[in-house]
Amino acid sequence: MNRLLSSSLLCLTALTFTTASGFAAPEGQSAPPQTEPRVVDPGPPPADAIVLFDGKDLSQWKTDRNGSPAKWDIQDGAAVVNRTGNISTKQEFGDCQLHIEWATPAEVKGTGQGRGNSGIFLSGRYEIQVLDSYNNKTYFDGQAGAVYKQHVPLVNVCRKPGEWQTYDIIYHVPRFDDSGNVLKPGRVTVLQNGVLVQDDVEIKGPTSGPANPKYKPHPLKQSLALQDHGNPVRYRNIWIREL
Ligand code: MG
Repeated sequence: MNRLLSSSLLCLTALTFTTASGFAAPEGQSAPPQTEPRVVDPGPPPADAIVLFDGKDLSQWKTDRNGSPAKWDIQDGAAVVNRTGNISTKQEFGDCQLHIEWATPAEVKGTGQGRGNSGIFLSGRYEIQVLDSYNNKTYFDGQAGAVYKQHVPLVNVCRKPGEWQTYDIIYHVPRFDDSGNVLKPGRVTVLQNGVLVQDDVEIKGPTSGPANPKYKPHPLKQSLALQDHGNPVRYRNIWIREL
């Protein structure tokens, strides 16, 4: 090989593996991706999040059963369950990252499922349980952090009654084909108070009492709902990022 040809080849090789930013990929690897991640102010809430409740009003929520304005009480920057029924978002969401803060009543009443019960219904039908699980025994797949009646939380990281707790949820909606068959089940990851309690688990179907729930097809985007189980559970700082 003459010197001119070999230096041309060297030059071509350098062109192939050197990116715009000037970083060369190690030999045998493809060039690194060219698209730079968006800059997002992390907040909280992150700059690209949709704030669903900021402590002032429930204007982005409706009463689930009839679509009338949400009637939960607003007290000291929190939305409080008050037996007017489940509420759901006016806007519909698909795959998402959800941050939500909740507190069960400081005054402890009831036992088991009757103590500080509420819940977050992903796609309006898959419940992540909210419950006072601080020194309160119940069935394990029904305690706080459970995918209700489907997945027991990895650990119990409940704070005391009345104290604020966080859920950070990463949710991928199930996919259905045109005939209503499940192409891909839903999946969910949950961190409670910053601790992993559900690790990318498969959602088996809509929340229901009996075992073996059956999926029913639904559109990708659905309302997010919060449960009124008759206990005055409080919520604040709710925001969502669409994925
Ligand atoms: Mg519940």
